[in-house]
Amino acid sequence: MPGLVIGVDLGATNIRAALGNIESGILRRVEEKTVQSESPDDVIQQFIRLIRMVSANDLDKVRAIGIGSIGPLDCWRGVILNPPNVPFKNVHIVETLRDMFRVPVYLLNDCTTAALGEWVFGAGRGLKNLAYITLSSGIGGGVVVDGIPLIGKDGNAAEIGHMVIDFEERLACNCGGRGHREAYCSGSGIPKLAKYLIESRPDYFCGTLVEDLVGRGELTPKSLFELARRGDKGALKIIEEVGRLNAIGFANVNTLYDPELITVGGSIALNNLELVLKPIIANIGGYTANRAPKIIITPLGGDVVLYGAIALASNPPQTLAQGVR
Ligand SMILES: [Zn+2]
Repeated sequence: MPGLVIGVDLGATNIRAALGNIESGILRRVEEKTVQSESPDDVIQQFIRLIRMVSANDLDKVRAIGIGSIGPLDCWRGVILNPPNVPFKNVHIVETLRDMFRVPVYLLNDCTTAALGEWVFGAGRGLKNLAYITLSSGIGGGVVVDGIPLIGKDGNAAEIGHMVIDFEERLACNCGGRGHREAYCSGSGIPKLAKYLIESRPDYFCGTLVEDLVGRGELTPKSLFELARRGDKGALKIIEEVGRLNAIGFANVNTLYDPELITVGGSIALNNLELVLKPIIANIGGYTANRAPKIIITPLGGDVVLYGAIALASNPPQTLAQGVR
């Protein structure tokens, strides 16, 4: 039996840890709400507690720890810098855990980690070129090109949510930039896009249910997709536009990285398969010169980052293992 490893998925809301290995994937898991504290020590203590809890009597068999984390981070120094939506910053997680457990510890951003999970345990097994895209409250990505997971100078090689898709810069992104895809197609962006579209074409949206919800400031991605399923003309129009912009985003990924497969995860995609995926598949060909890839929902569902963290600990990218930026 190959040695055991620990994988940790640090999100803004939940933190999950798993004990596993490259043959069996996840053997045991624990989950908690992510500690909402300004103190890096509190975050580190939560990591230590979860790692001890999930490894139980097998702690002495653990030979590495892999962490897929919300960014921004510096994966080479092993530091979680200052993620939005959580109070903590500058968490020196790699060095601390390495000193504590005396095993190698690797840190990558959550979407690059998810791409590793897909490659090792999911639909990307056996492929040399694949991408993973999450459509959630934010938009992120990870890619493997020619059998090499791309990392970049700080670990942000595929920050595809922040690609500019609107040179008129109409909507503002959570990162402070403008015109980024995340500002239009993510969970936090979709309501802003809906408001913009309704204001720019009031005649078309007049009297639709979606116009009413936006007017009351109550539109969420969930309610938008529900209205679309009920056939509301306005909601369907907005979903069509989200689909077209998503197709542009997926096309840009295809043009840059030329993947054979793009798998899609994140709550927006996982909860609205048809309405999200169909327009992407239908429209991607119009926006990319490269041969279109196969596009599917990740078979690993909400566990894709956790599987990736097991893969990262078991078989880290060579450059990361060597600490070569
Ligand atoms: Zn942005």
